[in-house]
Amino acid sequence: MKDSFADLGLGQELLAELATLGYEEPTPIQKAAIPPLVAGRDLLGQAATGTGKTAAFALPMLERIGRERAEPLKPLGLVLVPTRELAVQVAEAYGSYGKGLRVAGVPVFGGADFRKQAMGLRKGAQVVVATPGRALDHMRRESLDLSALKMVVLDEADEMLDMGFAEDLEAILTATPETRQTALFRATLAPRIARIAEKHLNDPERVQIAREKGVKGTAAKVRQVAYVVPRAFKVVTLGRVLDMEDPALALVFCRTRIEVDELADALTGRGYRVEALHGGMGQMDRDRVMRKARGQAVDVVVATDVAARGIDIDHLSHVVNFDVPPAPETYVHRIGRTGRAGREGTAITIATPREGRMMRNIESLTKQRFEMADVPTPDQVRSRRRDRMKAELAKAVEAGELEPYLSTVRSMEMDPAELAAAALKSLHEARRGDHAAEDKLQVPKWEDRGGPAHPRAESEPRGKERPDRATG
Ligand code: AMP
Repeated sequence: MKDSFADLGLGQELLAELATLGYEEPTPIQKAAIPPLVAGRDLLGQAATGTGKTAAFALPMLERIGRERAEPLKPLGLVLVPTRELAVQVAEAYGSYGKGLRVAGVPVFGGADFRKQAMGLRKGAQVVVATPGRALDHMRRESLDLSALKMVVLDEADEMLDMGFAEDLEAILTATPETRQTALFRATLAPRIARIAEKHLNDPERVQIAREKGVKGTAAKVRQVAYVVPRAFKVVTLGRVLDMEDPALALVFCRTRIEVDELADALTGRGYRVEALHGGMGQMDRDRVMRKARGQAVDVVVATDVAARGIDIDHLSHVVNFDVPPAPETYVHRIGRTGRAGREGTAITIATPREGRMMRNIESLTKQRFEMADVPTPDQVRSRRRDRMKAELAKAVEAGELEPYLSTVRSMEMDPAELAAAALKSLHEARRGDHAAEDKLQVPKWEDRGGPAHPRAESEPRGKERPDRATG
């Protein structure tokens, strides 16, 4: 199996962009799908959202069309998606992967101003990311010309069929050049997909991401708790959860090395002893971090998956998914780092509502549900800190050897209770820095934002577009 993006046939511009984004290695679907697509083959892929599927088709498409400038006003790539939200998300992904090649994705979906979209399309879009109904509308009104198309992707094809887009897809595909390359991704094996694939794909490479077996036992030993919060509150949430849980050692996973560095800084600012670990660091630095972690001179290690591979530390009490990992198997590998040597382990996941789908993929792999928890309130955190400080002080009194300090206290001739309180206050401030404002922050519950408390309960999380063409 090829292990790095450089092995997949992608050019320097894309590799540079991936390095900037901090992606360290391709996910399984990317390893399997990128080489045949770069080589020009059609592809029939089975992969759920949250597996890194977008990059699996966007990168090879960019590789193939990124340097073509022949007919700049006509799109060279088309991605069909079931919902407006996915259209926006996928177009954004093209924007970030395609920066170096100066290719952007233009999202086109129903329910938005038709004329504005048409103007955008006429100005020239190399990649159009569209819901089928609206794409067809633009084709009929001649604001979308597919005659120069080199590549088409049907993303979440099963969902598009479920939504009644079968005829639209048929009409769109029929209007594209025969020479185009086609990739079709679906989450399930619906028989109706086979028919479309048969008709519109040319000797496709079949790619299916096999699920690992026998993970149930590993996952069951570990308590799995999840917090669902808006993205902007992830750091505050993590800080509070760490304050409550008081881990012996926590390993916090981020998807990219940029996130690792940012989060390590943020947690250091909250008074934790933090080390970062990622693939951009030399071996000596990594060894140093591991030595410190084993020697209990660190509270939190923030790492990417690649850098944390093979880490085995007995006193690792907590694994934190600061992001839900793109491949569910990665989640299982991550949480397998804790709960070792007969100890109790806790896995904490901090997800945005958008990541709900990825959580469901994980639940179906581990056959275990997340325990959904409320973010600790500032009062809970304060009272936990107080208890901890009391316990620490009681221990220090018991340990004795206070003579030199006692003589200082006596020499001050002040009220001993007040003195002790002042000492506590400065100890507290020195440890935690000044987080007065952040400590008061009210982290909104997902249900406060008009959605249900549990992402699993989302009936329609992505604002489905109806296949209704009258909206333009
Ligand atoms: P997707 O399944 O395409 O929706 O991707 C899920 C998330 O994983 C997105 O936020 C991507 O930015 C991220 N992602 C995709 N591929 C990688 C990778 N190789 N390394 C790190 N993050 C990735």
